Amino acid sequence: MDENAHQQLNVCERAPLVWLVRRHVKGHAMTYQSTNPFNGIAVDSFSQMTDKQLDAAITTAATCFESWRNKSYAERAAIIGKAAGLLHAKVEPLARTMTLEMGKRIGEARGEVEFSSRIMAYYAKNAERFLAPVELHPTAGEAHMESSPLGVIFGVEPWNFPYYQLARIAGPHLMAGNVLVVKHAGIVPQCAIAFEKLLIEAGAPVGLYTNLFISHEQANRVVDDPRIKGVCLTGSVAAGASIAERAGRNLKISSMELGGSDAFIVLEDADLDHTIPWAVWGRMYNTGQTCCAAKRFIVVESLADTFLARFKTALEALQPGDPMDEATTLGPMSSEAALLQLLKQVKVAVDKGAKLALGGKRIDRAGSYMEPTILTDIKPGNPAFRDEFFGPVALMFRVKNEDEAVALANDSDFGLGGSVWCKDIARGKRVASRVETGMMFINNIDWSDAELPFGGIKNSGYGRELGDMGIQQFVNKKLVRYVPAMKAPA
Ligand code: NAP
Repeated sequence: MDENAHQQLNVCERAPLVWLVRRHVKGHAMTYQSTNPFNGIAVDSFSQMTDKQLDAAITTAATCFESWRNKSYAERAAIIGKAAGLLHAKVEPLARTMTLEMGKRIGEARGEVEFSSRIMAYYAKNAERFLAPVELHPTAGEAHMESSPLGVIFGVEPWNFPYYQLARIAGPHLMAGNVLVVKHAGIVPQCAIAFEKLLIEAGAPVGLYTNLFISHEQANRVVDDPRIKGVCLTGSVAAGASIAERAGRNLKISSMELGGSDAFIVLEDADLDHTIPWAVWGRMYNTGQTCCAAKRFIVVESLADTFLARFKTALEALQPGDPMDEATTLGPMSSEAALLQLLKQVKVAVDKGAKLALGGKRIDRAGSYMEPTILTDIKPGNPAFRDEFFGPVALMFRVKNEDEAVALANDSDFGLGGSVWCKDIARGKRVASRVETGMMFINNIDWSDAELPFGGIKNSGYGRELGDMGIQQFVNKKLVRYVPAMKAPA
């Protein structure tokens, strides 16, 4: 293990936009703070932008749009494709910055950087195909739909996938001809800076992608700004409701990727040798801090005892340790605040009648570590029945049969994803169709791919990111029609 791995990383030392990346200056508001959740040590802090700096950044972005919109797909792809290559080439320092700031285990962090690279490369290659004019077949004459960019899009992004979330908007939306101004989460400022720097290094014109260190109040004003043409947010329901309301008031198009409480439905013909390792992975990947993680384990009665016993044994085997160490199987949570919030939720759940089948406490060591936890006996009326648990806490429910499993899965305010586990694939597809979410998976956990749409319904938000639908989110779909020899009105 490299002794220096947890030292401050100077990712922003040579960034050209000095005012965007200035370390904390006395007298300036400071909400952008790197703190290592492995040991609680504050690493670095950054000042918020002033209103004047923010206005200048939006002006620069709007100016950039006027030339970027007219670039060919090949010209755009040269830059986005180069950024993809840089993500791949810099996987190690980028992954380490992520692990340092939010505690993701280093192997998972490397995987996220590589996946971000694949997303950027995929849209560099495929954007033109997705956005090509589409011929229509009207009853008279000819018509087609064409796609053109809207302008400056404002992104608001969470800390749990510090680069993937940025790549998920940058790849499609920049290739579509839009430009981005992005407010990243306050706890991952060095990741935010690193991504912006990477695009600049790839040859992005000034203003193509701008990182904004701004307050929530300033974010509201960005949404109000007439130079901003759309808003995409990934985050909590509260943040989504606040920004979506603001966007609505301004009649601006928005997409919202919010929380989830995905069902993991285990039917009586499930192969538990296959299912249990995926249950562990689905709940514990990223220390449970994934929107589409398996959160509610809905198991038919005939398998419930065996499932619980095996799930518990597998979770107990996880070993907390340094997330920079590849041997570690349980990393810290992203921050002390996230850990305290989760502990509070578990306490409330137990006070209201839920039982702890495993864990429930913080781990007695330095850093923000939570025991892998299983809650059972969660009845309607217990807040745990409806709330999202964003960490290593599994909620387990027993049901009599498939119908009860579907009814319970659908009895949720969220509708992001979910999975069903059974040997009969036709049955799995039937159950998948009955569950009211944006994404369903059979014998696999809910996951994202560069080419497939990602998103949910209900309180999980609206709109889609990635795939054909994702790249169409912020483009003008314009109808162009020609009817030859049409008589002028008398
Ligand atoms: P969060 O507190 O909502 O923060 C997300 C982003 O929104 C951050 O940049 C945050 O800035 C900003 N923000 C929060 N409230 C705001 C407001 N009132 N006005 C303007 N900006 C605001 O969420 P989180 O705790 O970081 O992330 C976890 C949540 O995101 C979970 O619910 C998870 O399920 C969801 N998520 C969803 C997806 C998806 O694709 N559906 C993917 C990942 C995560 P600050 O950090 O400065 O507060």
